[in-house]
Amino acid sequence: MGAVLSLAELQALPGQLLQGLPIEGSGAHRPDRSGVAVRSFPFPYRAGLAMSNDCDSQSLECLFDWHDFVNGRASTRYGDGLGLEVGDSFWVYGGSVEPHLFKGNPFDASHADGYALGELVELGRAGWFDTLHSFGNWSLRFVPPDRKDDPSIHSRDQIARGLERMDELGLKPSVYVNHSGSPSNVGGPWGWYQKADDPTHGLYSLDLLKQFGFRYFWLDSCTQLDKFGEDLDFGDEWHLQRALNRFRWFHWLRRVDADRRPHPVAMADGADEQRELLVGIFNRLIFPVDAQDGSRILAFKRYRDIDQPVGPTFPMQVTAAKLDALEQARGSVVVYQHFGVFGPRGRLPAASRPHRKRSPIPALDEHSVATWRLIAERQRSGSLFVATTSRLLTWVWMRDALRYQVEQNDERWTVRISGVECPVLGTRDAQAAELNGLAFTVPRHAPEVRVFDERGRPLPVRRAADPVHEGCDAVFLEWQPLEWPDRPRAT
Ligand SMILES: [Zn+2]
Repeated sequence: MGAVLSLAELQALPGQLLQGLPIEGSGAHRPDRSGVAVRSFPFPYRAGLAMSNDCDSQSLECLFDWHDFVNGRASTRYGDGLGLEVGDSFWVYGGSVEPHLFKGNPFDASHADGYALGELVELGRAGWFDTLHSFGNWSLRFVPPDRKDDPSIHSRDQIARGLERMDELGLKPSVYVNHSGSPSNVGGPWGWYQKADDPTHGLYSLDLLKQFGFRYFWLDSCTQLDKFGEDLDFGDEWHLQRALNRFRWFHWLRRVDADRRPHPVAMADGADEQRELLVGIFNRLIFPVDAQDGSRILAFKRYRDIDQPVGPTFPMQVTAAKLDALEQARGSVVVYQHFGVFGPRGRLPAASRPHRKRSPIPALDEHSVATWRLIAERQRSGSLFVATTSRLLTWVWMRDALRYQVEQNDERWTVRISGVECPVLGTRDAQAAELNGLAFTVPRHAPEVRVFDERGRPLPVRRAADPVHEGCDAVFLEWQPLEWPDRPRAT
């Protein structure tokens, strides 16, 4: 926060600050092959993918229709389940068919149990509902006409109530994803209508959200339209410069006001801080930004593609060619979808939106089924790591945050984990969930390697030739995937 640059000055900034950027500072993850380094992904994978599905219009029937196939292992209408780890999102306050905690508007006092609460709790406790899609569809359209101008209609208490209820029910989502126009959204540097991080508004609650355990925030602007994947290794500086020159900076460097007038986003004063933010925007899956209250949060990006992200666009969002390039560059992608919404692949919202409807059952068309199979083949062959959004993000976060010391002698290398250190989340012990699938690379000639946690307990690591990092072995814990509860469903 500090430097006031004009829109034109901001648009020129990437060209000035990122000229000659080295690969090492570009967001690429390159383990140091001479010693012990955290691997790019759990063993044996070379790239990562998560599906971030917004719950809009997604009934329980629709949810089970496609998740039973994608996540489960039993036989379904689409064929045998693919066994992938794909999570989903929910609301706190809802009035329709999306799983939610409380039925009705946040300003209704009844707080009656919401739709599909039983399933929400069961799947949520097991880790499948890892994303809160903001607090609900808090459109002012649902506010009674006589209360439209009431500033207390949306309040911090409504947020606190939802968090308490989640706590009571044992739900611990760590991913916060904004929902179209909801005042309960977080705005960050692009904030205008978003109130959850606006300390001047009665709905302010970012402090409560963080305290509850939300770690990763998707803000409206954090959408990639034509760059598939983050933390990409462009191979050499020429390819990196070419990608930088092609990157479309415009929407990242401006915010709009209530009249949709563009303003420059606030920039830090120093060139190093400015460069770091630009690299984050360009090529990091997770990057720190300033919230409207001045505190720092971890923002993450989702890949949308050019078309509106509704069910039928999925086969164009994820293709064999895009996955090839992602694996080549050892990157990660979080795909942005609405499998509960079905309609034309519209680039022009005004023309396509009136044709949208709730997804029919079956929710997946044959092209989407083929795309999920393509993803599953790559996961099974050991190239593509597929995990819930929170678990992919936590892996990518941990790879930078993990701290450890290495003692080397001729017979043995000893790795002692000392904790995690993050400029936003702070310094502390690593949690067991953060060490799921922990993997290091070591040079092939390294002697025996042992790994100990903070309390000095040995971790049950295995060692194998690394198929991705040349000349290295991987020393790793087996990734523990979530298990989908397969069971007969009413049809
Ligand atoms: Zn939404």
